[in-house]
Amino acid sequence: MNAQPPGEGTPDLFEDAPCGYILTRMDGSFVRANRAFLEWTSYSEQELRSGKRLQDLLTIPSKIFYENQYFPLLAMQGSVREVALVIRDMHGRDLPVIVNSVRKTDVREGDALVLSTLFIARDRRAYEEELLRARQEAERLSTIVTMSADAIVRCSADGLIETWNPGAQEMFGVDQLEARGHSIRDVLPSLSSTDWERITSGLQSHESVTVEAEGRHASGRAIDVSAGFAPHFGPLGHLVGMSAIIRDISESKAVQRLQYEFLAMTSHELRTPLTSIRGHAQLLRRQGRYTESMVDRIIESSDQLGHLVDDLLLASSLEAGRFDLHPTDVDLRGVVQAAAHQLTGASGRTIRVESTSDDVYVWGDRFRLAQIFGNLLSNALKYSAPETEVVLRISRSGSEVLVAVIDQGAGISPDDMSRLFDRFYRAAATAEYAPGVGLGLYITNHLVRAHGGSLSVESELNRGSTFTVSLPLAGNEPADNRDRPAEDVTATARGPA
Ligand code: ADP
Repeated sequence: MNAQPPGEGTPDLFEDAPCGYILTRMDGSFVRANRAFLEWTSYSEQELRSGKRLQDLLTIPSKIFYENQYFPLLAMQGSVREVALVIRDMHGRDLPVIVNSVRKTDVREGDALVLSTLFIARDRRAYEEELLRARQEAERLSTIVTMSADAIVRCSADGLIETWNPGAQEMFGVDQLEARGHSIRDVLPSLSSTDWERITSGLQSHESVTVEAEGRHASGRAIDVSAGFAPHFGPLGHLVGMSAIIRDISESKAVQRLQYEFLAMTSHELRTPLTSIRGHAQLLRRQGRYTESMVDRIIESSDQLGHLVDDLLLASSLEAGRFDLHPTDVDLRGVVQAAAHQLTGASGRTIRVESTSDDVYVWGDRFRLAQIFGNLLSNALKYSAPETEVVLRISRSGSEVLVAVIDQGAGISPDDMSRLFDRFYRAAATAEYAPGVGLGLYITNHLVRAHGGSLSVESELNRGSTFTVSLPLAGNEPADNRDRPAEDVTATARGPA
């Protein structure tokens, strides 16, 4: 009985293993059993070695399984894996175990010996469940990383990219293979050495660091990003790497810029008429008498202020979708003529109205229709020289009426066309030409669309522009026209022919 387990020279490993280890002969008799096995079964090694066989320690069903399955397999294959047996301990208590056995030939005795490891099934199950849970958690995390629109990047301590999720690939236009080994700073070129030092020293002090930076897509396009860095430490407490979660914040940055632009533009536009009103009022007080022109200026500036405030309020209702039309049958020719008449009086300019049709009724909101043509006409006058003529041409086309507002003015460059109907957009070439805040066309386009119509523009720089409103004739409007929400509508600009 002095046979040594395989791995002689490492007896502690056999003895102290956290699982049961037994060495038996082919007939099942015990040669050795380790401490765990003796503890589980309450037998002493002496008792086991004095003629007990492994099958003697099994419950009846396990014994049958041992004789009919386990042993023939062991004899045939030389090993048996993951067999569930139930051992009965010295006190008659059952202990379900998972057994793995392998046949060894003992060099000294020439006998075949069987080395078996035994795991308590309950522990093993708990361990497997733990493993399964950990795996499921890892899979969940990996799904988040894979599906995330944010770039999630793992880097070495000096910022070299190690892993790169599909979000990063989409954001920077570079796949993981290409990115690996490059510095994270290559895709965040705006990070200066000082920024980088701040990040790494924060990470060294166990802090996560978030910075706003400019990212660079492979195509060269700049992206506004917010990048959060978190440290990874090794077992000895050294910084061994970092993860970065990078979010594209271009949209919110654009909104922020728009807000700044809006404030800058509206403050200027509000201040101009206010200054004029105040200036004229001071003059009145100094002179102690008024002239017609002074009062006219004050009224004009107040009107200008009133229009601007109205436009701002209307634009915000359109934006919020809180906007109603009050439609009736409207004679469109009358509305267009009235707008022309009003603006001719105010500007002293020539506005010609041409109509190829008498009877053009639309189902619409009279006040808003007047606003549409008022806006287009005042733009035509604003962006053209005083000596040039503006024409309003009304015609019918099938079930629609078309009203073209034609000027021979500054024109619009093709580059500006696609953004012309955007809120607060002003074409660079004409922004100097005349005051404005870039709301007129945004509002006009919304109002036309809310009437079931469309607005298009054709223009040539320094030659002039034609804005054409097309509206369904009464009886042809879309059924839900009355309640059509304003946010349904989008701009349609057509470039120069
Ligand atoms: P605003 O006139 O207050 O700037 P609009 O929304 O009415 O705002 O117009 C937006 C921009 O479109 C203008 O700033 C101008 O650049 C351009 N635009 C509009 N109408 C004309 C026109 N008839 N001719 C040339 N440019 C025009």
